Amino acid sequence: MSATVHEVLNPATEDLVRTVDLVGVEETDAAIARAVEVGPVWRGLAPADRGRLLRRFGQAVDDHLEELARLEVANAGHTIGNARWEAGNVRDVLTYYSAAPERLIGQQIPVAGGVDVTFAEPLGVVGIIVPWNFPMPIAAWGFAPALAAGNTVVLKPAELTPLTAIRLGELALDAGLPPGVFTVIPGAGAVVGQRFVTHPAVRKVCFTGSTAVGQQIMRGAADQVKRITLELGGKSANIVFADSDLERAAQSAPYGVFDNAGQDCCARSRILVQASVYDRFLELLQPAVQGVKVIAPETADAEMGPLISANQHARVSSYVEGDSVDVAFRGSAPQGPGFWYPPTVVLPKSTQDRIWREEVFGPVVSVLPFTDEADAIAKANDTDYGLSGSIWTRDLGRALRMSRAVEAGNLSVNSHSSVRYSTPFGGFKRSGLGRELGPDALSAFTETKNVFFSEE
Ligand code: NAP
Ligand code: MG
Repeated sequence: MSATVHEVLNPATEDLVRTVDLVGVEETDAAIARAVEVGPVWRGLAPADRGRLLRRFGQAVDDHLEELARLEVANAGHTIGNARWEAGNVRDVLTYYSAAPERLIGQQIPVAGGVDVTFAEPLGVVGIIVPWNFPMPIAAWGFAPALAAGNTVVLKPAELTPLTAIRLGELALDAGLPPGVFTVIPGAGAVVGQRFVTHPAVRKVCFTGSTAVGQQIMRGAADQVKRITLELGGKSANIVFADSDLERAAQSAPYGVFDNAGQDCCARSRILVQASVYDRFLELLQPAVQGVKVIAPETADAEMGPLISANQHARVSSYVEGDSVDVAFRGSAPQGPGFWYPPTVVLPKSTQDRIWREEVFGPVVSVLPFTDEADAIAKANDTDYGLSGSIWTRDLGRALRMSRAVEAGNLSVNSHSSVRYSTPFGGFKRSGLGRELGPDALSAFTETKNVFFSEE
């Protein structure tokens, strides 16, 4: 079957960046076969040598940080500041997990009649399916711990954003990883991604993307009892109490939702404000929203770029214009070519409104009041999702109660931080299954093997 071609557009200008050949099932199977073949070589390396190669890979990423960042600005419309952070995150994740091969420590368990030990065995080939919103970090959160644990990896970037992943695949080879250990396969989700699910040699699939596709992968994985990690959507709450530093809460709220033009599964797209300070919060929020610098993403001080595609623009617009939602105020966005959409604050009529319930994945935030802690908890948890969220209060007891009560995998008190490579990340409810990053990520890429040695 001949390959099809994808035209990569710059979302800020709609100019053609490059064309990329999309591979079919045969080439996918060939890459998986190479990953199987080289598996024993990779897991047979001395742990320190595997660690050293991952550190070299991290160093290669650091040496090409500016190139990778520029590539992401052109391909995904990320601001240059964000894109540099993202490339740096790949380096950091590789460095963090480069220490893991020498620390895959099992247990020695007291038993009668012999010695019992456990081994953390690699799974084999791991397939990673990456979305277009954070092409570099999400790729690395899968491949770095997978490789560290001794697995080989095939990775499918999103059709819309293949460029940095392709470059990372080249850098891995330059750094000395044996060919076939880490292969990037650009192609369609329904072809390459689906093949990861059906191919028996792929022993685990890591998927980040929409809940609908994640559910499909989970169903497909059942056939072979294939391991999966799912990082899916979100509709996270930013809960602002009257006793908080209201100025800081309002000033930072736009950055908790409009970063990456709202195309972030952790976006705090539902702001809940205690009724007694609701009006004052909106007064403070307006200049903060209008101060977000939505300009050409390569500009040094750009804070928000365009949406990823015309489709995404149409999808986001349909939530606001299509539903005649009550817009409180908006920020600005460039006119002319590019998939620009201004930061937008809307006031839903109730928690039943589509804009309050569904993931928009664009720079649109809804604001609703709440009365007390119980009401805030009920409203925050009234969603199928549970990925992240923020709690703004100066009352320590309340911060503790709220952070235990909100059903989400990643909460932040008096800030909007979500992701650190050294701490676990993932969702409750329909936001996903399993955790990435942090000290325990290796266990998601290994099987525990228990062996009893008889002393007879
Ligand atoms: P998506 O379809 O879930 O895409 C995510 C990845 O899965 C892409 O690499 C995609 O490939 C692949 N894929 C698609 N269908 C597949 C299948 N049947 N089997 C295996 N892999 C498959 O997400 P989207 O269509 O790009 O975005 C739609 C919405 O999903 C967004 O508006 C947003 O609400 C949500 N989303 C969430 C996240 C997140 O971080 N949680 C990320 C992205 C999107 P292709 O590129 O070829 O489609
Ligand atoms: Mg899709």
